[in-house]
Amino acid sequence: MEKKELIILGSGPAGLSAAIYARRAELDVLVIERNPMSGGQVLNTYEVDNYPGLPGINGFDMGMKFREHADGLGVPFVSDEITKIEKTQEGYRLTGAADTYETETLIVATGATHRKLGLDREEELTGRGVSYCATCDGAFFRGRDVVVVGGGDVAVEDAIFLARMCRRVYVVHRRDELRAAKSLQARLFAMENVEMVWDSVSCEITGEDLVDGLVVENVKTGEKRRLEADGIFVAVGILPDSGLVAGLAELDEGGYIRAGEDGVTTAPGLFAAGDVRTKPLRQIVTAVADGANCVTSVERYLHSSRR
Ligand SMILES: Cc1cc2nc3c(=O)[nH]c(=O)nc-3n(C[C@H](O)[C@H](O)[C@H](O)COP(=O)(O)OP(=O)(O)OC[C@H]3O[C@@H](n4cnc5c(N)ncnc54)[C@H](O)[C@@H]3O)c2cc1C
Repeated sequence: MEKKELIILGSGPAGLSAAIYARRAELDVLVIERNPMSGGQVLNTYEVDNYPGLPGINGFDMGMKFREHADGLGVPFVSDEITKIEKTQEGYRLTGAADTYETETLIVATGATHRKLGLDREEELTGRGVSYCATCDGAFFRGRDVVVVGGGDVAVEDAIFLARMCRRVYVVHRRDELRAAKSLQARLFAMENVEMVWDSVSCEITGEDLVDGLVVENVKTGEKRRLEADGIFVAVGILPDSGLVAGLAELDEGGYIRAGEDGVTTAPGLFAAGDVRTKPLRQIVTAVADGANCVTSVERYLHSSRR
């Protein structure tokens, strides 16, 4: 395959937005996606209720709409899983299961995966009470009881956010103290409708079609308890899909690719967009913004490298 001006790796919201902007900028672009369908994490989202102009849209439909937009502009897509990225003299070489690709610039939009609890029925009940994103789904649980599992900054921020709208928030943590920043802990402990469930691990999600509780076990006493709740918010970590560029661009301590809003990384000609980069809020709306910003950075880079 002949060398491209730009390859976009991943076709979630960040990659698809970058593809639309790249095509409109008349760049010679190629998108590579390992899944048979575009959309990334959005495909697994039952309802997206915080994307401007599309309230309540089903995640699958949203992914299809994004992809149709790119298809309508004639963006070329290849189905392949990239397993290696190398720096070449004039850009990057990507090796996939099906082919090898050369490009002057690369936008990495490979996203991230939320760590699971590993419980039976967790997957089946995701979107039916189990959630990995309080910002996305919290509003569906207004006035109801929910559980947050985790003890880091994200778990505590989620619990504070949820406590403002939910009747009761249980915070389940495996130890007897939280890892989160002390300032966050102080805010959490000051909330009257928050109950800490210390030294406890999650054992079983209960409910037929929808979640109605979480059984937890105290690791010190072995005692089991069922917390009645309509929502279980899992905040036990996010794993960025950044391994392919680990030796090329700088990552932060969480494994995210270090890049600002312009997507510029420490590797020349390599840009990062969406959940895979360092950023304060991982959402569809921020991912699509990243895709657009990255293409502007690519254009600037190509312009300066050709002078
Ligand atoms: C259950 C759930 C519900 C959510 N609900 C909402 C919501 O309501 N509102 C909201 O704003 N956000 C929501 N989010 C967050 C939102 O989905 C993400 O912020 C967004 O999808 C990030 O987009 P992205 O393009 O950066 O990455 P992703 O969506 O993760 O897409 C990355 C793409 O890259 C591909 N890829 C990765 N590695 C390779 C490789 N080596 N080779 C080829 N392809 C590769 C993947 O297959 C994937 O298609 C939710 C997330 C989850 C998990």
